[in-house]
Amino acid sequence: MIWAVVVILLALLAYEVYSAANIKAQRFVKAQTMSGSNKVLLTFDDGPDPVNTPRLLDLLDELHIKAYFFVIGEKAQQHPEIVREIVRRGHKVGNHSMHHNPFHGFWGPHKYYRDEIMAADEVLRSIGIHTNLFRPPLGITNRQIAWACKKAGLHVVAWDVRSFDTRNEPREIVTKRVLTQMRPGSIVLLHDRLDGVCDVVREIVTKSELEFVR
Ligand SMILES: [Zn+2]
Repeated sequence: MIWAVVVILLALLAYEVYSAANIKAQRFVKAQTMSGSNKVLLTFDDGPDPVNTPRLLDLLDELHIKAYFFVIGEKAQQHPEIVREIVRRGHKVGNHSMHHNPFHGFWGPHKYYRDEIMAADEVLRSIGIHTNLFRPPLGITNRQIAWACKKAGLHVVAWDVRSFDTRNEPREIVTKRVLTQMRPGSIVLLHDRLDGVCDVVREIVTKSELEFVR
């Protein structure tokens, strides 16, 4: 009997951890998806980067593609002109928290709301950007984060294709992973802070037969 209880508790705990770490499970937040559209949306997290983001913006212009950029508040504070340029080129900017702290999932909802969501929102507003898009760092969602997003009136944008471009693998592995997983209507997660981001994007777009958001 006691073992049955232990097994059930462990299963519940595993489910809790699984759904907190997997934004695709959509347990705590109703993530905005591209369902209904047959186009692929490229999304870039963790910028703005003073070197790679401007290069990427030029490449996206060349490829006639529009993307979403989820920027970190404290980086936006350092490079406001790049964030403005993202918008000027026709892309969308979303909030990716103020500090990108990996331990924020353990914080209380009020602290997360104030120090991560609203602090980044204030930075963005101070440079003239109003956004209702949010992507939680590392894709971690839980009840506290769901509450904070709802209070801030933010739509959480998830992904269905994770490139794992931060793993420091050869570019071919990253692009192959993305190309084999992409479907019409996919949202692809990439990082514009990485040096190889332009090569990866060029390869994905030129090798894929799918339509991208333009
Ligand atoms: Zn991130």
